[in-house]
This record gives sequence, structure tokens and C-alpha cells, in this order.
Amino acid sequence: LMRLYGPLTSLSNVHVDVMTALVSFDRVFEVLDLKPMVAERPDARPVPDGPVTITFDDVHFRYPAAEEVSLASLESVARQDTAPSHPVLKGVSFTARPGRLVALVGPSGAGKTTITSLVSRLYDVSEGAVRLNGLDAREATLASLRDTVGVVAQDPHLFHDTIGANLRYARPGASDEELWEALRAAQIGELVEGLPDGLDTVVGDRGHRLSGGEKQRLALARLLLKAPRVVVLDEATAHLDSESEAAVQQALKTALAGRTSLVIAHRLSTIREADEILVVQDGRIAERGTHDELLARGGLYAELHRTQFSSSGSPES
Ligand code: ADP
Ligand code: MG
Repeated sequence: LMRLYGPLTSLSNVHVDVMTALVSFDRVFEVLDLKPMVAERPDARPVPDGPVTITFDDVHFRYPAAEEVSLASLESVARQDTAPSHPVLKGVSFTARPGRLVALVGPSGAGKTTITSLVSRLYDVSEGAVRLNGLDAREATLASLRDTVGVVAQDPHLFHDTIGANLRYARPGASDEELWEALRAAQIGELVEGLPDGLDTVVGDRGHRLSGGEKQRLALARLLLKAPRVVVLDEATAHLDSESEAAVQQALKTALAGRTSLVIAHRLSTIREADEILVVQDGRIAERGTHDELLARGGLYAELHRTQFSSSGSPES
């Protein structure tokens, strides 16, 4: 019996070590944002230096069943006892290059958020590979992945802590002036200035409650402070009022310049600026190309364009 339990115990120790390492890096918020369900390999290496090229090579993915999540690397064992969940990604291949913007569009439930979550190795692929500068994400250190990839999720997680602390998880040494600069660029400076405790205001479910849009702007400020090599953005038009959208877009443009950007895009203005649009449908890339190419094709993109994309920020032609 001990023999059976042995591997399980050592595995959970590894997990604790990884968590401790991450906490000591002062990146707790990202642990929560990214909820890692993956283990670091003993021989893991950092993501290679320099601008990042992301490659998805025939990626297949299904979400792990609940039992598998807690067993992480023992998934092959757990799989035998659990009904497999349905495949979510069914052979996704693309390359995202530095200084270029890749936009993911497609119907709800198509797999867009899932694709972005594999970039930071929130989960491991079921088949195929995700590579950053040629290094398989499964062979990268978790700390270097967290450093390399900055995410603004649709519904970002905030710590039950002060606004200042939430921001400094992204850059521990940042001065107050740098925090204010990021807050203003993200169009949330005025709101924070108006709070009685300013940067010392405690936010979160038990603190000052922020709206979805405010949370996203705070996450954007965090991204601006962090200035990661890879930017992943889940654009949520519902959260943003048109008034500040232009300014947010400007801040983002600056933040994305020269980086590798993957944006789940809803705004026509973003989609049009994308170097490549990937139209995701039912776990596959159904169409790919530029806005003009895809419109001319008269397929799914053209259909989505007619029915779904928000035209705010850019007049429709
Ligand atoms: P999109 O972002 O394009 O709307 P998602 O990537 O969120 O699509 O979802 C793709 C599919 O994966 C959907 O069928 C969804 O129900 C499923 N899914 C998303 N997140 C999870 C999860 N954490 N566990 C299990 N299934 C999930
Ligand atoms: Mg989504």
C-alpha cells in the first residue's frame, strides 16, 4: 500500500515547492490568475531570451476531468477511471510572431479562451505542442512562463489587497509614480484618485467592489507595468464604455508595440489592425487571413462581420 501512495506524496510535495517558489517571486496574483494545474519538470529551462515566437503545432486539447486535475502528472493513470471530457481543440496550428498582432475571432464556445490559456501553460495539451521560441511549454520553468506571458482575462482576478499591492505583484519595485502612470494610461487613474484611500484602497469581494470594466482596467494597468514579451488579451467589449475606449486602445497600442500579441477580439477596430485573423470554430481554425482577405472570401468571417462584431471605435464600411 505504501508503495502505491509513495508517488502521490512526492508529487504533492513538488506541487508545494512550485507554489512556494512562485509565492517567493511575489507573483501570487498570477498563480491565482493562471491557477496552474501543471507540474514543473526537474530539468525545466527558462523561455529563451529575446522577442517571442509562439508556435501551436497541431494542438489537440480536452479539459481534464475533476479527478485528473488534482493528480496532474498522473493523468494517464486517472484517465483509465474517468470518462474523457469532449475534445475542445481538434488540431490547431498557427504561429504568432514578435511585433505582430494575431486576433482570434469566432462564435462563443469555439475554443478561443482555451487557446490563449495554453500559451501560459495553464493546462497541458493533449496532443501536439505549444512552443515559445522553440521551447515546448512543458519544458519551460513556470516562473519564466509567468514572466514572459502577461494576460488580461475577460474577468481578471484581483487579490483581496490594496490597489497598490495588486499592481506591485506585476513589478515589485515600482514607485508610486509608476503605478499612477499605469493607472492613468489604463483610464482608471481618476477613479483611484477619487477613492478616500487611493492606492491603499483594499479591493476584492470583501473590499471596495470594482465593476467588471474597472477590474479589467486595473489588470491592464498591471500589464502595462509588467510589460511582458507576450501579451494575451481577452477583449471584453461589454465592460468598456465607448468614452474611455479610445484612450484604452491607445494605451494598449503602446503596450503591444514590438511584443507578440494574441487578442481575442470583438472590436472591429482591433480585428482590422490584426496582422492575421484566426477564425475559430468548433475547436479548429476554420479560416485565416487579413480582414480584407476574409471578407472577400464570403465565409464564416464575413458572416460574423455582419452579425457579431462591435463597430465601436471604428466606422463600418
Ligand atoms: P470561447 O472563448 O471561444 O468562447 P472557450 O475556450 O471558453 O470558448 O470554450 C471552449 C469549450 O470548452 C466550450 O465547450 C466550453 O464549455 C469548454 N470549457 C471552457 N472552459 C472549461 C473548463 N474550465 N472546463 C471544462 N470545459 C471548459
Ligand atoms: Mg472566451
